[in-house]
Amino acid sequence: MKYVSTRGGITPVNFTDAVMMGLATDGGLLLPETIPCFNKNDIERFQDLTYQELAMTIFHPFVGNDIPLNELKNLIKQSYSSFNHPAVAPLVKQEDLYILELFHGQTLAFKDIALQFLGNLFAWILAERQESLNILGATSGDTGSAAIYGVRGKDHINIFIIHPHGKVSHIQERQMTSVLDHNVFNIAVEGIFDDGQRIVKEIFSDLDFKHEFHLGAVNSINWARIMAQIVYYFSAYLQLPDSERKTVDIVVPSGNFGNIFAGYLAKRMGLPIRRLVLASNENNILNRFISTGVYQGSEVVPTWSPSMDIQVASNFERYWYYLHHGDPEAAMKSFAQLRETGAISISREQLLQVQKDFATGFATNDETLTTIADFYQQTGYILDPHTAVGVKVAQQLRLEEGINKSTSICLATAHPAKFPDAVHQAIGIYPPVPESLRDIDQRECRYEILPADTATVKDYIRSKLQTPS
Ligand SMILES: *Cc1c(COP(=O)(O)O)cnc(C)c1O
Repeated sequence: MKYVSTRGGITPVNFTDAVMMGLATDGGLLLPETIPCFNKNDIERFQDLTYQELAMTIFHPFVGNDIPLNELKNLIKQSYSSFNHPAVAPLVKQEDLYILELFHGQTLAFKDIALQFLGNLFAWILAERQESLNILGATSGDTGSAAIYGVRGKDHINIFIIHPHGKVSHIQERQMTSVLDHNVFNIAVEGIFDDGQRIVKEIFSDLDFKHEFHLGAVNSINWARIMAQIVYYFSAYLQLPDSERKTVDIVVPSGNFGNIFAGYLAKRMGLPIRRLVLASNENNILNRFISTGVYQGSEVVPTWSPSMDIQVASNFERYWYYLHHGDPEAAMKSFAQLRETGAISISREQLLQVQKDFATGFATNDETLTTIADFYQQTGYILDPHTAVGVKVAQQLRLEEGINKSTSICLATAHPAKFPDAVHQAIGIYPPVPESLRDIDQRECRYEILPADTATVKDYIRSKLQTPS
């Protein structure tokens, strides 16, 4: 399989090159040249596969001959052995909804599913090429910790993660900074999340520095992350009883459009679901796009579901490219216009297509909390605030259509214990603390506090990477 850029400016590359490239060198996003397809019989034959075997089946056409099959199999096995549930992503039924629990990885959020695999994949490719990689990223919480757990202790890789000092949640801070492996460097900058992001951008734009220190990123635009996420859409469907497979909707709490884009590809690969439902919180740029055809950001407002507090969805360009039938000119023109005017829109026919691809809804901050409370009262099951946004939207749509006309699967993107304050606010109790968080306050932590200044952060990175000669 070859990979092309949404902006059409690169010679097609192989899978491993696409993974190492991250963002395409022309500024676009990478996509496979063709989308592999499975028919109904194929999918029925997936029924008895383990999650790992299913991953193997789905990855194979995307990876091609770039990685020997037994090596790929090992990478998958390694990646999912760190999950604390044998199904990796179990489907549970609560009242009339199915919940796909994506939070059984080490940092208790769905990002582990892709980042455990990406970490192993990086390590394999780097060992093969005898190269090294120094990952640099800024985080407001979830991605940074999942990335750190994905690469901790691995050869040929160091990771530098910048978080705003004192401004991520207590659990997130301790999850990140208690990883003491030699290759993990936590930087707490005296500033806000945007300062961290600005510093990373400025460092990446210093190409000499970037090349000298082999810097790379792990943000949600890496193709391998999308690919890894396709698997659980198939797995969710295959875990449904036969009688429930006729009219299936999958509801996705969305921020950067990464998770739901994987679902979109799953559908195009032949997964027989009716619709994907995009659920937003009050930062509902994507929800507005699907409803009106206009894509226009506004101020980010903080909500109870902070991992969805996003106004520019970094994966959206991939869908835009498909919506314009793989025409890179169209994608380029649109995104230039977006940068200039802050808004882009589509034709009436295209809007019909969008609304065929996705249904949508959003939940306000208050609705998020009342959904946690009502659901807990009805079922005893505690939702995290991101999952609650999806559940609220699923309930709205089911009500509009008439109950029991369809099967709804809600993706649970985080464990409630990761967001204890929201849960406490909603139901007056704190969620039970899972094993992996129990000793978190006793762990030793390590991080460097630095001013929010690019030159200082550069000096710090240089001092850690330059081996004394
Ligand atoms: C990252 C994240 C999301 C949003 O996922 P996208 O792929 O950015 O749409 C939702 N919930 C949680 C808990 C997350 O960490």
